[in-house]
Amino acid sequence: MGAGPLDDPRYVGYRRRLIEEIRGKGIEDLEVLQLFDRVPRHLFLPEGVRLRAYEDSPVHIGYGQTASQPSLQAFFLSVLHAQADERVLEIGTGSGYLTALLAHSADRVYSVERVRELSIRARKSLDELGLANVALLVGDGTIGWRKYAPYQVIVVSAASPSVPGALVDQLADPGRMLLPVGDRDHQDLTLVRKSGGQVSEEAVRDGCTFVPLLGSFGWDEEGAR
Ligand code: SAH
Repeated sequence: MGAGPLDDPRYVGYRRRLIEEIRGKGIEDLEVLQLFDRVPRHLFLPEGVRLRAYEDSPVHIGYGQTASQPSLQAFFLSVLHAQADERVLEIGTGSGYLTALLAHSADRVYSVERVRELSIRARKSLDELGLANVALLVGDGTIGWRKYAPYQVIVVSAASPSVPGALVDQLADPGRMLLPVGDRDHQDLTLVRKSGGQVSEEAVRDGCTFVPLLGSFGWDEEGAR
């Protein structure tokens, strides 16, 4: 692995440091850590903030949105463990970075984003890396993407006031979904499992702060709900 033709050798060392930082925060899962080595995060960020790509922090990507903190995404990946024969639904494409990480482990990734410009930008980055197993949709992800359901894995990268029912419906049995649930400022990462027709919920991490999930089954545009 290391610098590919699209990569910049400067960034390889930064990326290794980021991986060490993620490991230091308790993610020991080698499969997950290797994903971070395979995907150059800077390619998913706007030019002006690329130098911050390998800091373990959220980065503003425009349109009031942020690319999530890498160690938090590593946590998502280590909980969900998408397999090579599984379909993943992602809500909140954003920069497309998590989409790319997921595309390296799953069979196909279906990702919904409400901001058209972000989806277009993500498509460009994913194409640059030749990731052909990703389908993107511009729309309200709180209603899911019925066409390709059911999904063995669903991941939501924006904070929801509750677990959107449409996403539970589109989850395969067995299947697992991870999403931040709570109020506008604080959420718990909630793992929803479907198995044998039963649905269970478990908080696997508390005190996260994500941008709001806006839409029919999320927050309204003003966040007044
Ligand atoms: N994993 C992404 C996170 C982006 S932030 C990354 O690291 O880049 C969450 C994204 O969810 C934002 O881009 C926001 O526009 C999007 N979003 C918010 N509500 C949405 C909805 N109802 N449907 C689809 N996307 C939504």
